[in-house]
Amino acid sequence: MDFDLTEEQQLLKSTVREYVEKEIAPQVNDYERKGPLTREEAIAFIKQLMPFGFYNGRLDEDWGGSNLDRKTYGIINEELSRVWPGLCGMIWIAGAPPAVHSDAERSEYRARMRAGESIACGGISEPEVGSGASYLRTHAVADGDHWVVTGTKTWISCGPIADHIDLMVTIDPGAGRDSVRRLHVRKDTSPWEVVRHNNLLGLRAWPNGELRFDGVRVPRVNMRAMRDESDQATAARVWDFQQPRTLLAVMAVGIAQAAIDASIRYVRERHQFGRPIGSFQLVQEMLYEMVVETDSARFLAYRAMDLQDKGRDSTAEAAMAKGFATEMAVRVTSKAIELHGALGLMEDYPIERYFRDARSLTIPDGTTEIQKLVVGRRLTGISAIV
Ligand SMILES: Cc1cc2nc3c(=O)[nH]c(=O)nc-3n(C[C@H](O)[C@H](O)[C@H](O)COP(=O)(O)OP(=O)(O)OC[C@H]3O[C@@H](n4cnc5c(N)ncnc54)[C@H](O)[C@@H]3O)c2cc1C
Repeated sequence: MDFDLTEEQQLLKSTVREYVEKEIAPQVNDYERKGPLTREEAIAFIKQLMPFGFYNGRLDEDWGGSNLDRKTYGIINEELSRVWPGLCGMIWIAGAPPAVHSDAERSEYRARMRAGESIACGGISEPEVGSGASYLRTHAVADGDHWVVTGTKTWISCGPIADHIDLMVTIDPGAGRDSVRRLHVRKDTSPWEVVRHNNLLGLRAWPNGELRFDGVRVPRVNMRAMRDESDQATAARVWDFQQPRTLLAVMAVGIAQAAIDASIRYVRERHQFGRPIGSFQLVQEMLYEMVVETDSARFLAYRAMDLQDKGRDSTAEAAMAKGFATEMAVRVTSKAIELHGALGLMEDYPIERYFRDARSLTIPDGTTEIQKLVVGRRLTGISAIV
């Protein structure tokens, strides 16, 4: 793997950094204090950042994208996360292309995505179903040319503002993985109810909610089997967390980098005992640990993206990157608080937000424990979970 960025990547990185520092950074604290973005606010940010490749840049031209490779997409997302990880996550989830089943619907969604006006979400988790995602309770029952869906999905990123959802349901509750199906559900024709906004420790402007499906009717053609022998590629993609886990790793690296940059500035300026605190060896040791850990996570994340760019499997590498990077960001942002003293704990000063945002990333798309089991399975050939 080549560690150098290409000229185009360097230019894109510096352009995005300059733009988000000038145009986005001054707004972050106010929005984070206010809470979840509204749909209108989310769409305005999507449109503002689309020209740099966010939202649909990873997709092909039909979806308005520019086929950005994974590493380049990672670079811009790291830069945005250095300033506002919640916005980065929101735009990533919102820009997932829907699994549509007709040409008319495909054209409709492509036009909406080219305009930055489609907001997706993905529904796996339920109040009683988390890490053991195979045992879903939200179920679909066939009724003529429709499925009737009943159940509750929770912790759904972008759920309160989404217009469509990639919904995981069971057609035989209790039967496990083989009974799981994936449904594309659009809110205008098959409406669900937003029963709660989940206000989390960090990433507070990124809407997250609980959704209730109460006998929602969805056309039969909107369903895909998870273990369809005739469509192995679709079946594999459904449980494929390689890209989201790598994106979360990149977000964690961006947060850690922000904490490092702020800490370096501060230890040069802050004086104690008549000297800058950056002159104390224990302070320099902390900076050393922060930088080495962040670079290690960055290398793991970009290695996973490199494999993805080459079309190779990165299941274990993405799990290593996600597990290590998100835990690393908790340690690094905690050290940044230590280096800032009491100021690091003060609300409205970004350091405590870095810590809260980092702490919120160890849970989604598989907790750290689940990442360890994914890597353990690769190492031993034995699955600790079914
Ligand atoms: C910011 C954020 C965004 C999210 N976005 C979405 C979304 O868009 N869509 C969606 O569907 N979900 C989403 N989630 C939910 C997320 O995927 C779940 O929270 C996660 O899978 C863990 O499930 P849980 O919270 O129910 O915890 P549980 O699964 O109940 O786990 C509780 C604890 O038990 C441990 N544990 C569980 N099983 C094992 C095991 N076999 N071995 C060892 N330890 C184990 C876990 O590691 C954890 O420490 C989001 C969560 C967060 C925090």
